[in-house]
Amino acid sequence: TLEIQKVHKSFGSLKVLEDVSLTIEKGKFAAIVGPSGCGKSTLLRMVAGLERPDEGTVQADGKTIDHPSPRRMMIFQEHALYPWLTVGENVEMGLELAGISKEERRNRAQKVLKTVGLEGFYHYYPSQLSGGMRQRVSIARALVMDPDVLLLDEPYGALDAMTRLTMQNELLKIWEGSGKTMLLITHDIDEALYLADRIFVMSSRPGKLVRTIDLDLPRPRSRHGQRIGELRQ
Ligand code: ATP
Ligand code: MG
Repeated sequence: TLEIQKVHKSFGSLKVLEDVSLTIEKGKFAAIVGPSGCGKSTLLRMVAGLERPDEGTVQADGKTIDHPSPRRMMIFQEHALYPWLTVGENVEMGLELAGISKEERRNRAQKVLKTVGLEGFYHYYPSQLSGGMRQRVSIARALVMDPDVLLLDEPYGALDAMTRLTMQNELLKIWEGSGKTMLLITHDIDEALYLADRIFVMSSRPGKLVRTIDLDLPRPRSRHGQRIGELRQ
């Protein structure tokens, strides 16, 4: 369970987050929506352990998150692949740092590349891939660490509509039955309604949580989020 309690955060004189509290139970798929600049990425970085709150607590299973961990992998808004490394090397980097043997690294990388539909691209360079494929590599690089929590910061923001749809379904497949907790930031309310069990709606200046919507709708879901009216009230 991820628990954010009464979090406040400022950068200099700019108050970015004010009194944000939210809970995500283990294994659930949660989404955060809100206007640009309301502090979504800041909040996600806190869960990743890359940033500390000024006030309040951010906890995973009752323990304060105060450093990054391979248990909680973040996929960034701008996917940050190393252009001078191959797909395989990009994916294996975290495993290498963890001291895992070359053979084992390779096996695991091949397996996750298959999961994200990139079997056969191990020796390619990021520059030889499409945007969607590069985003798949970012996801593979996070998945290969077998995290309990996947933090996704608008992973599909830069992709065309068709690719987004495909990748949303791929993400559901990766998540379903995995026991992983997902926390996804998106600008796309339809995407949130399609994927998430719980949607956190934020407002800006300063960033606040204004609404929590639980979606107990079965999957697969209609793409016309039945509760879109509720969000727009
Ligand atoms: P977007 O939807 O555009 O990605 P966001 O909701 O993710 O926006 P954040 O990236 O969390 O917003 O930024 C919130 C505010 O905090 C912005 O005004 C930004 O300029 C500021 N901010 C974020 N990180 C820092 C930092 N490290 N130093 C100073 N200001 C920062
Ligand atoms: Mg952001």
